[in-house]
Amino acid sequence: MSELAHLCEEITACQNCILSQGRTNAVPGEGPEDAEIMFIGEGPGFHEDRQGRPFVGAAGNYLNELLGKIDLGRQNVYITNVVKCRPPGNRDPQQAEIEACRPYLDRQIELIRPRLIVTLGRFSMQRYFPGASISRIHGQAKRVGNVIYYPMFHPAAALHQPRWRTLLDEDILKIPGLLAKLDDIEEAEPEITQAEQLSLF
Ligand code: URA
Repeated sequence: MSELAHLCEEITACQNCILSQGRTNAVPGEGPEDAEIMFIGEGPGFHEDRQGRPFVGAAGNYLNELLGKIDLGRQNVYITNVVKCRPPGNRDPQQAEIEACRPYLDRQIELIRPRLIVTLGRFSMQRYFPGASISRIHGQAKRVGNVIYYPMFHPAAALHQPRWRTLLDEDILKIPGLLAKLDDIEEAEPEITQAEQLSLF
């Protein structure tokens, strides 16, 4: 069994915070272990809790639609969440719950080593853009070393607000260009340092 599969088993049995008490299933995440792109949402909802899989409800259908716009499918990307168990009534995850789950997400990122991390919504955005407002920075990537961090609105938000749907539809289309730009940078400077940081768009 791979290290990532072990980690997913560990998450499935986790009891490190109170969210474990109300769950049907933990939702570790899914996708190829060598995915170039990782999407990080907020936390499982009703359907995800039932099935133990991320983004399988209405927001997930829309995420699949967005992936289709750039010729990607679920089989091409890794999808996970900031918290792996459903908050009761789909409330926001609390700081203690996010902290309890943080080592799991850290290890998933270490093992998968994605080149592009797409944050969906403000909770995952806060990991990489602390204090930022999603309305201001969505669709603006930042590069740190060989990794691009790219904040997008949460697909669930767009289901209620047509305006945000337009923005998500626009932002997803920038992803192929971001990866191409990272290819160029890596070719020009094979020894990129971790400290190097710049905005790409
Ligand atoms: N919303 C999320 O943030 N994650 C899911 O897995 C489903 C809905």
